Amino acid sequence: NTFVEICLGERLSENIKRCKYVRPTPIQRHAIPIAVAGRDLMACAQTGSGKTAAFCFPIISGIIKSRSPRFGGQTTGVCFPSALILTPTRELASQIHDEAKKFAYQTGVKIVVAYGGASISHQFRNLEKGVDILVATPGRLVDMIERGRISLRLIKYLTLDEADRMLDMGFEPQIRKIVERMDMPKPGVRQTMLFSATFPSEIQRLASDFLSNYVFLAV
Ligand code: AMP
Repeated sequence: NTFVEICLGERLSENIKRCKYVRPTPIQRHAIPIAVAGRDLMACAQTGSGKTAAFCFPIISGIIKSRSPRFGGQTTGVCFPSALILTPTRELASQIHDEAKKFAYQTGVKIVVAYGGASISHQFRNLEKGVDILVATPGRLVDMIERGRISLRLIKYLTLDEADRMLDMGFEPQIRKIVERMDMPKPGVRQTMLFSATFPSEIQRLASDFLSNYVFLAV
């Protein structure tokens, strides 16, 4: 099984090659085709399994394929990302941001990162340059939403990465608040992927609340 067999588009395939990814890892081999087909996904996968690429490739590929005019936000001051990746810590957020930028090289897909403990005005300036994919920690994102600078109304792809860690850190109220802001008119318009190392009852509850007709994967 190779990346070429999974239809991700020419530009993204080039970038995968440049990252020297030759063979998909098990999570990538199974998750990417499911996600590219538009299905919701609950995946049990550890750090080091290659899960970052497993959720980034389908999102980047989907955004490229459906390229619509971007709502940059320069006129209103409000940004409308089409994908959101929620992750527990600033370290993880910046790692995902760095990887996603390599995957999206020369595609025009814009990725911005937002986390607490760093200048919010600097992050706002990055957002104002345009954003397709926002990588964020829950607390900082809620702050930005409450300041009226980000709207989640047009989120088409939602990924919760290391969901069990986010719950352990007490982020469940923020996560629920964030997902409530995604008032896509019809169910099934948003595609949601939940990644977690473990699958305790709290994660099962998140899955049944946030995912619709999902595929369960454990690697
Ligand atoms: P992750 O689990 O997403 O944190 O990825 C773990 C490490 O594996 C990262 O350094 C990735 O760049 C690398 N990696 C992910 N997928 C592949 C692949 N298919 N081939 C080679 N390296 C990979």
